[in-house]
Amino acid sequence: MKDDNFLKENNARHLWHPMGAPGDTQENAPTIIKSAAGATITDLDERTVIDAVGGLWCVNLGYSNDVIKDAIAKQLYDLPYYSAFAGTSNPMAIEASYAVREFFAEDGMARVFFTSGGSDSVETALRLSRQYHRLRGEPTRTKFMSLKKGYHGTHFGGASVNGNNRFRINYEPLMPGCFHLPSPYPYRNPFNETNPAYLAQNVAAAFEDEIAFQGANTIAAFIMEPIQGAGGVIVPDASFMTLMREICDRHGILMISDEVITGFGRTGDWSGARHWGVKPDIMTTAKGITSGYFPVGAALFSDKVAEVFEKGGPDAAIFHGYTYSAHPVGAAAVVATLSETLRLDTKTNAGLRGTQLYEGVCALAEKHDIIGDVRGGHGLMTGIELVTDRANKTPMDAGSMQRVHAATYEAGTMVRIGGNNILMSPPLTISAAEVDQIIAALDVGFSAV
Ligand code: PMP
Repeated sequence: MKDDNFLKENNARHLWHPMGAPGDTQENAPTIIKSAAGATITDLDERTVIDAVGGLWCVNLGYSNDVIKDAIAKQLYDLPYYSAFAGTSNPMAIEASYAVREFFAEDGMARVFFTSGGSDSVETALRLSRQYHRLRGEPTRTKFMSLKKGYHGTHFGGASVNGNNRFRINYEPLMPGCFHLPSPYPYRNPFNETNPAYLAQNVAAAFEDEIAFQGANTIAAFIMEPIQGAGGVIVPDASFMTLMREICDRHGILMISDEVITGFGRTGDWSGARHWGVKPDIMTTAKGITSGYFPVGAALFSDKVAEVFEKGGPDAAIFHGYTYSAHPVGAAAVVATLSETLRLDTKTNAGLRGTQLYEGVCALAEKHDIIGDVRGGHGLMTGIELVTDRANKTPMDAGSMQRVHAATYEAGTMVRIGGNNILMSPPLTISAAEVDQIIAALDVGFSAV
């Protein structure tokens, strides 16, 4: 490895960071993470902190899982690559598809299409939704509906259903035929409704209204995250996803559950949809599928969808896919990760530690009036919305958010900033003592502004 000065200088000079301003990297140099172990990361200056971000909502099993590392290494020697485009396959791809299907069998998932990540999985789900309706003889069903505040990646399809302005505005015009409903976000919503159950009913009514306006026979699918992640960890009422499912069913609309964050135990159950008692038609996954150790995603399809494709003849050919779909090394990472996920029963720890983190942050809200809203309590996804004025809910400015971030890091915990939210999704293997350290570091961070 090159020396530290080389790394710092050249990182700023040649590397464009996703979600960052290219002109900003000299002034605001990134923290360079050089190693990691368990739930901690170590930077170039030898500072070790707890990673309350879990990489990017993905390192579910922590950084030290040798079973996954060994599986990846072994596969590199057995077969580092072969294509899975029609006509060829590889043993690990077959094993991985079996493992993923088994993992989500209770959610009604029957078939697996591998991708290279979450955005690819969303793109796959959207495109195959249209093809599904075409195969069934309803080619007019091409539109998509989604929720404001939802995050579905950055491909053009995903950005078009994305409900956060900053991921859309620079790249417009986006895909036509995409419509957004209010988020079931009690802290801020156009209905001024703070009761989550009533709010869920309002959003469901808005869905019905929009379907009537567009015409049900023009809508292919509705996509939602069971708990909105990047948009600020927005937890809907327990009734919400069921209400939306029932409306989709009544109007022949496919329901896509975007489980890129919520899949594989993060919510305290193996999928977010299962957490809410819903069976979607399609699920999109990534992140926890390899604990972030290798870039893999998967779109999963229920029997209902699979049957249409499998009986569809030549028209059902899926002219969609990626060079790295079912990559053997990625597939080996998937098989190892899922078996470790089940062995460690990470969903149980996610539930316990998630409650601990949520309650700890709620207690901090008594002390720091910059905390406008605390969201979580369903596994290890926690969002804290910071404001400068509680009564008016004035969002905290970017500079102050950065100060909170820096002070929290100094106090020993890496968190993520998304707008005026602090976002947390630590490894699902985190200990109770480490969760206490996160809460203590946040206390210091909030005192900095
Ligand atoms: N969907 C959801 C719900 C996500 O949270 C993300 C990533 N945070 C994506 C899709 C996109 O995944 P990726 O960044 O792997 O393309």
